[in-house]
Amino acid sequence: MSRTPIMAGNWKMNIDHVEATGLVEKIHYTLVDKDWDPKKSECVLCVPFTDIRTVRTLLDGDRIPFGLGAQNVSQHDNGAYTGEISTAMLKKLNVGYVVLGHSERRQYFGETDELVNAKTLKVLGAGMIPIVCVGEGLDIRKAGEHVEYTLNQVRGALAGLSAEQVAGLVIAYEPVWAIGTGEVATPADAQEVCGAIRGEVASLYDGPTAEAVRIQYGGSVKSGNVVQIMDQPDIDGALVGGASLQPEEFAAIVRFY
Ligand code: PGA
Repeated sequence: MSRTPIMAGNWKMNIDHVEATGLVEKIHYTLVDKDWDPKKSECVLCVPFTDIRTVRTLLDGDRIPFGLGAQNVSQHDNGAYTGEISTAMLKKLNVGYVVLGHSERRQYFGETDELVNAKTLKVLGAGMIPIVCVGEGLDIRKAGEHVEYTLNQVRGALAGLSAEQVAGLVIAYEPVWAIGTGEVATPADAQEVCGAIRGEVASLYDGPTAEAVRIQYGGSVKSGNVVQIMDQPDIDGALVGGASLQPEEFAAIVRFY
């Protein structure tokens, strides 16, 4: 299996562009101290739009080998869409990744599977890598319908994508009840759904595509639980919220191996 683990920090609506410099530098120093090898785990920072320029300049200037991501993007091309940010604008800043369909965007901003699909196609068309988020709420988990619910979101997000496009993207399974709550899905719970997602990709596409797609777990990932999570055969990384704002904690997650 040749999937490179991918650890992504989702800063959410935290850290202004002045604070960003210090946080990126601290994460980097800590990783250098820990002898981190980017070939063994990729480190991606998904930052607010207003931080992108600053973080890009810092990563380039100091040759810090982190990926840079946004947390959302418009489904439209440049034009009369007040308040939106286009894929072209992100691409111009050499942004590599875009988080799409995060549960907070689905819950507070009404994003649907159709919209996530449109944005996924846009991001791929611009040559960036989508991190497509899926995952069930507590009611659905309690009803035992979490696998089918999540697979339905996966089918919605991937509609119309080619096998080659799917092979290159990242799917993040984030059970909503485990986000920011300190409640972590057990490694077995996370594996159950991540394994089902890989199986679904195999049946929608083919074996090699399923083997290539990277699947992250997200929801209260910390240095203390990352190893057990990464031990699961179908989990290739983590999407980290709260702990990504603490440089030592996040560096320990990136350097989990
Ligand atoms: P958390 O957030 O790590 O704070 O639970 C994860 C996420 O929302 O991506």
